[in-house]
This record gives sequence, structure tokens and C-alpha cells, in this order.
Amino acid sequence: MSGVPVGITALGLMPFSVGAKENEEQKKRLKIVVVGAHPDDPETGCGGTMLLYAREGHEVVSTYLTRGEAGIHGESYEEAALTRSNESVEACKILNARAEFLGQIDGSCEITKNRYVEMYDFLKEESPDIVFTHWPIDSHRDHRICSILVYDAWLNLNKRFELYYFEVETGGQTQNFSPSNFIDISPIIEKKHAACFCHVSQKMEVVFRDYHGPMEKFRRMQANYDYAEAFIKHDQSFSKII
Ligand SMILES: [Zn+2]
Repeated sequence: MSGVPVGITALGLMPFSVGAKENEEQKKRLKIVVVGAHPDDPETGCGGTMLLYAREGHEVVSTYLTRGEAGIHGESYEEAALTRSNESVEACKILNARAEFLGQIDGSCEITKNRYVEMYDFLKEESPDIVFTHWPIDSHRDHRICSILVYDAWLNLNKRFELYYFEVETGGQTQNFSPSNFIDISPIIEKKHAACFCHVSQKMEVVFRDYHGPMEKFRRMQANYDYAEAFIKHDQSFSKII
């Protein structure tokens, strides 16, 4: 994966940089922005990769399109938003990431002219080197909307950052996902799980048992790592870093 710092190795591609000349490049502090629809999407989809970037000294921003308003049975939208925002903030402490919330409503995400502008303005202001977001073929409407908003911003920002797609609950949610890149997250797997398990309201033990656990096992077989996260890189996403 181009743009990947030393310590993160992608299958089939060179690590971020090798050799004396590139040592200067290694010192560049990258900004990584992850955009997910709900609290827990960035953590479960690429929490391991976020941890690896943060460990290398890069800035990591975990962005949530919504606050998970519809995600706790028996709680009002306001109550659930507070609970789930706090869970994300706790997870971000473990991930060494900054949490950002974009103000859409769980289950009612919109694609409108104003929402396109909102995402464009957010990503323009953040000025990331690399962005991770949902793969657009997904059974959850909010995930699809999130992906399209980020994609549109990427186009209108002249593809200035590298764009990668992550998977969540593949089979049930993400579909038709054939990874181009795998990241070895074995060194930080326990920390990733700890961040995911901050989402107590989402019964994360069950979600991991039924979805993310099997997904991790499948990807680790493909990648021949103990634990792997898988991504699809947009094929017009060219590195401006190396
Ligand atoms: Zn979600």
C-alpha cells in the first residue's frame, strides 16, 4: 500500500519507504482520516490499521457521519446519541485518534447537495493524505451514502488524497468485496479489540463472534498473517507521498 508507514506491510507492495533517500519522506507526518457511518464502523473496519498509523506518529481522525441515534433499542435518539458518542470517544482514546461527528442521523442519512458540500468542506479542511471509508456495495443504506459522499468529495478535491475502502460485517453488510490490500494487524490485535469492545451498547462480543471474528480469520488465511484487515484501493488513487 503506498503511503503506508514503516511497520505496516501490504501484500504485493513495498512498505512505505526503504533506503537513505527516503528517510526524509519517512519523517513526514501523515494525516489519516477514516469516515464511517456509525459509531463502531471505523473501529471494526480498520481499527488495527488506525492503531498502526498512530503508533508510527501519524495523525488519525475517526469520523462518524452519525451518532448512532437509532442504534439502542428502548432509548430515545438523544439518549442513544449520547451513549454511542461516548463509546466512540472512549474507543478513540485507545486508538490515539481524534473523534469527529458530522451531524447526520442514523438510519436517515441523506445524499443532498448540502450533504455533498458538507463532506467536501470537511475533507478539504482536514486535508488528509489517506482516507478510508465504506465500500459502496453494502446492505446498510447509511454505509452506501457515506461511501458516495466521500467518493464525491475525492473527485471534487481532484483525487488529492489516497482513497481506500474498508469492509464491515462482510456477507451481511459489505458485499462483492475483493481486497487489493491486506494489513498485518497482529501486533496490535488486542488493542484493536479493546477499542471495538468500547461499544458496549452494540453487544460487540456477539457481533465479533458472528461477524468480525470470522472475517478476521478469513482475511488472515488469505493474507497469511495471524490477523489482517483488508482494503480495496481505488485504482485511480495515486500516491503523492512516494
Ligand atoms: Zn454501520
